[in-house]
Order: sequence, then C-alpha cells, then structure tokens
Amino acid sequence: MGDKLTVRNPYSGEVVGFAPRNMVREVDEAIETAREGAAGMRATTLHDRRRMLTGAAGQLQEHRDELSVLLTREAGKTIRETRAEVDRAASIFDLAAAELVAPPGDVLALDALPNGAAMTGYCMREPRGIIGGITPWNVPLALAAHKIAPALAAGNSIVLKPAEQTPLSSLLLRDLLLNAGVPENGLLVITGLGEEAGDALVRHPNIAMLSFTGSREVGVRLPAAAGFKKVSLELGGNSPLVVTPSANLEATANAIVRGAFAVAGQLCISVQRVIAHRTILGDLLTMVSEVASKLVVGDPVSDTTDVGTLISREACDRIEKLVADLKSAGAQVVVGGKREAECIYLPTVLTSVEHGGRMLQQEAFGPVVMFLQYTQFDEAIAIANSTDYGLNAAIWTNNYEEAMRAARELQAGTVIVNESTTFRSDLMPYGGIKQSGMGREGVRFAIDEMSVMKTVCFGRPISSN
Ligand code: NAD
Repeated sequence: MGDKLTVRNPYSGEVVGFAPRNMVREVDEAIETAREGAAGMRATTLHDRRRMLTGAAGQLQEHRDELSVLLTREAGKTIRETRAEVDRAASIFDLAAAELVAPPGDVLALDALPNGAAMTGYCMREPRGIIGGITPWNVPLALAAHKIAPALAAGNSIVLKPAEQTPLSSLLLRDLLLNAGVPENGLLVITGLGEEAGDALVRHPNIAMLSFTGSREVGVRLPAAAGFKKVSLELGGNSPLVVTPSANLEATANAIVRGAFAVAGQLCISVQRVIAHRTILGDLLTMVSEVASKLVVGDPVSDTTDVGTLISREACDRIEKLVADLKSAGAQVVVGGKREAECIYLPTVLTSVEHGGRMLQQEAFGPVVMFLQYTQFDEAIAIANSTDYGLNAAIWTNNYEEAMRAARELQAGTVIVNESTTFRSDLMPYGGIKQSGMGREGVRFAIDEMSVMKTVCFGRPISSN
C-alpha cells in the first residue's frame, strides 16, 4: 500500500486519486494544530460561527456537480443519490447555523430553596475542545457534515478521519469549508487506515470527545481504547419493517424497495427484515417483486441508474456467501440472487427465511431483503426485536392500536409508522440502542453532546467596605 491510499472507482476499477496514508506522527501534529484551533474557535462569537456555517452550505451548493461526481466515483453510489447527498450536507450546515440564531438558555431561580435566598443563576454551554470524528464510506459527505457542523457550531475544533475508501470527498469538503472562513486550525482532515490513523485519533488524550460512525465490530472496542473521553457511537443495524393486514400494500411495497436497495442496501437503516402477516405476505411479495425487478442496476454515473455498486469485490463476495447460506437454510429467491459483475449484486428478495437463524442476526449491508411471516401481533414484535441491533424500526398499519404498541414495544432508537426504515430527518435525534450505538446525532442534539453545560450561581453583591 505504501505511503498513500489509492482510491479506486468500484464500478470501473479506474484510479480516482490518491490521499496521504497518515500515521501516528501526522495525527499527533494535526491534534497539536487543532489545540490552537480550539482556543480560536472558543473565542468566536455565535455570529462568527453562523457566518462560517452558512458560507459552508453555500460552498457545497456552488460545488454540487464536482462533489456529486467525486462521491459517485469514490463510493459507487448513483449520481442521483450523491446529488441528494450534497444537498443534504448543505442543509446540515444550514441547520447548524439556524441553531445559533437564538439558542435557548435556562435561568435558575435559586431562591426557590432556602439555601439560595438572594441568589440567582443561569446555565451556559461551553465547547469541549477538540472533537475527533471518524466516518464510514457509505454516506461520506453527509456524515462528515454531521460531525463537522455541530462541532464548529458548539465552538470546538475538529479532526476528522474519513474512511480509507472515500477520503477525497472529505479533503474537498475541508477546502470548501476553509473558503467559507473556517480557520485552518479549526478543521483538520487526516486520511489513513482505521488501525493506524483512526486508532491514533481514538487514543489521543487531547481529544475531548470521539464521535464515531461505522461498524459494530469496530465500534464496540472503541470506548476501552479511548480512555477518559466522551464517546458517541453510531453503529450498524438490521432494521425490521412490520406489515399488518390493514396496511396499504402498494405504498408499503414501494417503501420496501426504496429502503432495501438505496445505496445498494449499504445503509445502516436499510430495510433488511420484512415481517408480514401471513394473510398478506403473498400479495406483498408479488408487488415488491414487480417493483424490484424493474430497477435499473449498473453504471452509477448514469442518470437512469437506480442501484449502483457495492463498495468492493470483498463486499460482493460476502453478499454472495450470505445468500448462499440463507438458501441452504431453506430461503427461496424471489428476485435477483446473483452477481452481475465484480462489485454488482442484483437486488435480491428472499422468502421462507428461517426464523431465529444466525444469518438474520447479521447486518446484511447489501441489496438483500428477507421476508418472514407472523400470525399474532406479539409474534411480529418479538421477531422484530430478536436482534442485538436497535437502530430504526418501522411498522405499516392503519390500525391505531398497533401503531401505538409498535411505538412502545419495538426496541429501536427510532420507530417509524408508514414510512421506510430509511426515513431520517437531520433535525431529529438519531441513534441506536443495544449494539447499534450510544449517544444521539441530529444537529441540535449533537451540538448538545459536543458542548458541556456550565452552571453559574450569583450571590448578592457584598461591598468591600
Ligand atoms: P468500519 O467500522 O470498517 O469503518 C468506519 C471508520 O472507522 C473508517 O473511517 C475506518 O477507517 C475507521 N476504523 C476502522 N478500524 C478502526 C480502529 N481500530 N480504530 C479507529 N478507527 C477505525 O465501517 P465501514 O465499513 O466504513 O462502514 C459501514 C458500517 O458503518 C456499517 O456497519 C454501517 O451500518 C455503519 N454505519 C452506521 C451509521 C449510523 O449512523 N448508525 C451510518 C452509516 C454507516
């Protein structure tokens, strides 16, 4: 691999570019620079920060074409997906700017208790210092924005380590943010491997908070390696979507296809397990198959492509094996079930998937959706919850009681009624329970996590003479 990362287009194999393979020394230097940056950012006014964030959104919109083509070439996502991702990243910066217009604050009526007679107080939020951000390759720009925008809004500096597969978009993002007035020592991007640059960032004592998005396998080990610092983890999932007899099946089928095959199924909140009532399973499968078999799969850069590539040959090998294992355990392929090219696997619908099987526990992270059936509502909830993950979960129903029960009983960070599990608004709190993570993103909530509350108590003035 040498001293640089070679970024390849997973569709064509062409070299997209190179990025430095930073090691411990470069990470240490970046963090030293970010120390000055943290002092500088802390001294900025909310108005200064708002100008930087609004400027960042403007820069992203101005460079929309360049960014979306780069993202498509780096990650194999379709051009329609990456244009939407650039718009989304810009709106994350806009949201962060909006949070600074009139942030709420608490005044403490300390004289409400006897020990505080004649005292008053208030709460203020202070920056933490240096935020360490680590991001995955599947949503490289918007997830970098979810780290950078709240970190700067809260008055921190940030050192970002993007995934080794997609470092170029983060380097371009940094340049655009510097154009927007973010100080050079306020935002540093270190590129490199997870076990080298990533590990050095995680362990560094001067990082005040680690904000990690990535796999469960890596994430669960990080709190121990990070030592005494705040850690937030946004990890994987294997989202369930329950379909009850009262659901509008056509709308449900469209949502399943949208949610299972966006980004070739490589989203942490992809629809992975559809749990359908036995009386409607057949009709639903027919509708899903019809929509799924019309998807255009192939060259991600073409405007007419619906489903792009997997990130690598290894990822495609893994999906091939997962489907083969599920088939040997009794699953039937209704649509797809085969590889088209080195990094392309056809959108795949499986039914008769064994309940409680080991493969259902895994995060598929590919274009594969598995249908299971239930008879009693309790059973649907139990199947949905029978996993170590707990990110997003959905129910399709027109029955009020079922919707309310799902909201209460589904074990997930977010429960969604009558939309795909992939629904996410960047203004809502977002994150997982169980092994899907800890902490919450979503701009306002991340600003809270990336700052600390300070309480100030005033006694009455006592003159010195
Ligand atoms: P990954 O865990 O392999 O890598 C994520 C990042 O961690 C990369 O930047 C990588 O270089 C770094 N890393 C790897 N090993 C490290 C180590 N030992 N120390 C520090 N950093 C290390 O994940 P991936 O393959 O890039 O992304 C896919 C995963 O991300 C999936 O599991 C997906 O569900 C998850 N994800 C979660 C969310 C969410 O918001 N919950 C969003 C997107 C993706």
